[in-house]
Amino acid sequence: MKESLDKLIKLQSVDSQLMEIEELKGDLPAQLDRLTRALEVLEKAIVVQQTRLEQIEHEKRQLQATIDDKRVHLKRYQDQLLVVSTNRAYDALMAEIDSAKKTVENSEFQLLELDEEHARLTDELKAHELEVEEKRSVMVVHEEDLRITISETEVQAKALEKERRKLERKIESRYYRSYERIRAARDGQAVVLLSRNSCGACYNRIPPQRLVEIKAMDRIITCDSCGVILHWEGSSP
Ligand SMILES: [Zn+2]
Repeated sequence: MKESLDKLIKLQSVDSQLMEIEELKGDLPAQLDRLTRALEVLEKAIVVQQTRLEQIEHEKRQLQATIDDKRVHLKRYQDQLLVVSTNRAYDALMAEIDSAKKTVENSEFQLLELDEEHARLTDELKAHELEVEEKRSVMVVHEEDLRITISETEVQAKALEKERRKLERKIESRYYRSYERIRAARDGQAVVLLSRNSCGACYNRIPPQRLVEIKAMDRIITCDSCGVILHWEGSSP
């Protein structure tokens, strides 16, 4: 049993070191995630705005063509007005002129509205593009920090992971399973050192009889209160 416990103590030490390395990375991976998602949203918005701007330009060209066309017609109608001989023909011509004028007016009004929308969208697009640029530069800094942290700890982390795999193979699977279960439930702490005759994780006082059992190391003793596996200094491998 002492051997199994020793291996669990070693495994805990390896896992604690791996956790420390993970903590060095701090909030950076989460921040990078958030930035990536924000950038995706912004880039989608930019595509929508660019598409609308192109559409507006197309609509404006069409409206301008209609206006030019109607103006040519108007000019022709007005010339014809001078040479028209009957009232009926005159009225028909006047109706054409009115209709053409209305079309020109409507088209000009729509052009104005499109111009406004175009200006507003262009401003929004600029703001979004600026935001993308800012977020990208923040990301570059974060990525660099993370890269440095990872490269500084990579060798150590790899060695620890190798050691962990070795230990995992050597530990009886039922002990390994309970170790993993406790570790998951207790923030990475499965095997904890006694602290002045109390549990080092929850500081629950350990009764003397249990202390004797812990020191004897012939079976795995867990804390009654928080469930971690307890060991004492003398048992450290
Ligand atoms: Zn405890």
